[in-house]
Amino acid sequence: MKAEDHGGTARQGGSSGPAAEESPGGGRPRRHIRLSSHPGGTAKPVAIDWGAANPKARGPVLGSVRDGTRRNVIGAHAGSYSLYRALAVAAGRLDPVHVPDLTNTAPAEPIGPWPQWAEADRIVSLDPWGHMVSEAFAEEIADGLDIRPTIAVTKAHLTVPEIGSAIAAGRLVPDGEVLTAAGDARVTKIAIEPVWYLPGIAERFGIGEAELRRALFEESGGMYTELVTRPDVKVFLPPVGGITVYGFGDAAAPARAGAAVTCRVHDECNGSDVFGSDICTCRPYLTHGIEECIAAAQGGGTGFVVYNRKEGRALGEVTKFLVYNARKRQPGGDRAETYFERTECVAGVQDMRFQELMPDVLHWLGIRRIERFVSMSDMKRDAIEAQGISIERQVPIPPELVPDDAQVEMTAKRAAGYYSEDGAPSSGDLLERAGRSLTD
Ligand SMILES: [Zn+2]
Repeated sequence: MKAEDHGGTARQGGSSGPAAEESPGGGRPRRHIRLSSHPGGTAKPVAIDWGAANPKARGPVLGSVRDGTRRNVIGAHAGSYSLYRALAVAAGRLDPVHVPDLTNTAPAEPIGPWPQWAEADRIVSLDPWGHMVSEAFAEEIADGLDIRPTIAVTKAHLTVPEIGSAIAAGRLVPDGEVLTAAGDARVTKIAIEPVWYLPGIAERFGIGEAELRRALFEESGGMYTELVTRPDVKVFLPPVGGITVYGFGDAAAPARAGAAVTCRVHDECNGSDVFGSDICTCRPYLTHGIEECIAAAQGGGTGFVVYNRKEGRALGEVTKFLVYNARKRQPGGDRAETYFERTECVAGVQDMRFQELMPDVLHWLGIRRIERFVSMSDMKRDAIEAQGISIERQVPIPPELVPDDAQVEMTAKRAAGYYSEDGAPSSGDLLERAGRSLTD
């Protein structure tokens, strides 16, 4: 790709331009903006050998904007929060040269390394060494490289009303370890930011890397010029939400000792998960998953709830609420028969969660087999099995946990191939399953 082909995009810095100038308000002169949008020049990115067997050979993910010449990624740390950081700098509240003091921030429980980390095509959407940087790259950090963790591992207690109900009903019994006498679940809590290795992402979707980079560039409004001008830079820190893993029991036991795994992979639904909205089954299924994970850990296995920030099937909450209105206002009212159609009318697609990347976190946890997969989703199951992890059993949501207004969603999903012990619904069911109207 010739640099001059992209002269126009390189100048998209707009009013800030590459040269120093007085700020319009007459304040301090703006610093020179160093464009990193073309190979060569002063750029000397630190090498990354994705999938290498140890962190030194792999090389650090260097996303700090402080040292533009050594950076080896496109984008910035912290996903979408990088833009809040920009606001903080612009507003004069954050020193742009602040470097994190990582004292005492190391993982509260060790995770890995596992053999899957060294298989380049297994993990392409997160940095497997992301929680170990302050240890693995201590010398480089001491030498002044601003290498930042993209994963943090801590410990917590979960207090969930539904777990209290499970204890009251006798389904769970506090053991003082996994479940305290007060009814709190002890967990390992892991936050993971996305780190995309672009050749691997492209391969996962069966498309060319150039095609992927061009779409990312264009559909983000030209936000990341280097996607098209720096084909030598292969790692992208996308401004999308990350993953939180809640581990019940010994998080290392499945990889180290082959302990049985119970797992719920849950895609964020703020309305239901947090606020108890009854149009879907998200919170009931999530809390059922937590209950299953606690039982698994008490039985000597390990439970994982993987929580992905992919609101409204990754269409976003505005689109999701527009679809709710369209479903409830359509002639004949909200019904299973037209559930997916209404989404597609508004969004153009039924779903943008792209489960193809979802199994990466399971590889990172060293999982090769899931005994109990707490999900009815055929898309999730197929994606996990396609990445070489076997699933012994899918655990459906108990019927009594499905809210009335969520029967439309449940019936539509079963008709579309969701796993159900009762099989697919009849065409009569599809017509009959009606939800509330907007004004009820
Ligand atoms: Zn939901």
